[in-house]
Amino acid sequence: MNFGTSRASAIERLNKFVDQNLFEYSKLRNFDYGPNNRSNISCLSPYITHGIISELEVIKKSLNKFSFSKNEKFIQEVLWRVYWKGWLELRPNVWTDYLNELKKIRKEFENNSNFKNALKGNTEIECFNEWVNELKENNYLHNHARMWFASIWIFTLELPWQLGAEFFMKHLYDGDSAANTLGWRWVAGIQTLGKNYLANEWNIKKFTNNRFNNIKLIENAPPKISGKSYSALKLEFDNPQNFEDRNLLIFENNLSFENTDFNNQKFQKIILISNKNENRSIKLDEKVLKFKSQLIEDQKKRLEEKSINCEIMDISNIKNLKEKFYGLYPTVGENLDYINSNNIKIDFIYRKLDQFSWQYCNKGFFNFKNYIPKIITTFS
Ligand SMILES: Cc1cc2nc3c(=O)[nH]c(=O)nc-3n(C[C@H](O)[C@H](O)[C@H](O)COP(=O)(O)OP(=O)(O)OC[C@H]3O[C@@H](n4cnc5c(N)ncnc54)[C@H](O)[C@@H]3O)c2cc1C
Repeated sequence: MNFGTSRASAIERLNKFVDQNLFEYSKLRNFDYGPNNRSNISCLSPYITHGIISELEVIKKSLNKFSFSKNEKFIQEVLWRVYWKGWLELRPNVWTDYLNELKKIRKEFENNSNFKNALKGNTEIECFNEWVNELKENNYLHNHARMWFASIWIFTLELPWQLGAEFFMKHLYDGDSAANTLGWRWVAGIQTLGKNYLANEWNIKKFTNNRFNNIKLIENAPPKISGKSYSALKLEFDNPQNFEDRNLLIFENNLSFENTDFNNQKFQKIILISNKNENRSIKLDEKVLKFKSQLIEDQKKRLEEKSINCEIMDISNIKNLKEKFYGLYPTVGENLDYINSNNIKIDFIYRKLDQFSWQYCNKGFFNFKNYIPKIITTFS
């Protein structure tokens, strides 16, 4: 499994998937055939997470090939990301509370041998051990494996979901504050209240083509209880009517300026922000940091080819910028935390897709799904 670090490699993957595999996506997507056979899914998440390609670009490409009804499942999956993002924007304290709980739990589990063995892939459960190694080596796991992994972590190994979510964030190329935190909460049973996801031997065997033996799991356990409830904020975000001549900051979630709603806008300079581990609450694996920095370099190269003035800057240097500037909104997560905790004033610009879709994220995904045709027609 190899993820190239350029927009060109993302586009190539998208085209190949749509041409050759999209037609069977809804039938085969739940199968995890192993790291050497991933053609049944798109493996686009490391690129979409970083904005190297956008959700709309992926959806448009798929609709050029098949009608909406033939394509509905894939489009729904692509828009899950937008939904999770919006859900977390409406309840940013879920993220803040997660990081605070994590700090405390890290200390409690510092010397816990179950935890240490899980991180090493040294448990009694063969498939789990294999996924640990795959995560560390390939920095990617199939969606079904993520669900099984999280379920085994929480209900069989009886470890806190917060530590599992940190382990994923550390190693995934597509690590995303919303999809990851809420994915783990969902498995634990605190996202959809009272409904946990329990992995079972039969399901794992079937969807891994019987690749694993010795799957002894706890298949019955009550959902976890968080004891916290979060009401949705009212989101207000206005993009400027007339842009002033200023610099634009771009964070790691929007690394394809040419492809944004603002690509016709003239900015003095585009500043691509990188964020090293010292300013992150969750320290990322070196390979993940390298992946990010190569994607940033690729964006810089593409901008320079278009003669757009640009530079790469560490997040800690933003506070030294003298003039006013705009920033493409980084969404709830590590970059926004840094900006807020350092009282940095940025006039944020929001993607039109997010502005439109996030209003439908206050309830569950089944409700959001009803608005997907409206979202598609608005942006097609
Ligand atoms: C515990 C857990 C943690 C997860 N952590 C992350 C994470 O950190 N980052 C991340 O991007 N996804 C996360 N996911 C969601 C999902 O597993 C991945 O997006 C998906 O496996 C990516 O593979 P793909 O690109 O081949 O997906 P495909 O099946 O080809 O789907 C196409 C696109 O749809 C989007 N998508 C599909 N399923 C989901 C989903 N459940 N949530 C959000 N977007 C989705 C992705 O952008 C994906 O690239 C998590 C899921 C679980 C259960």
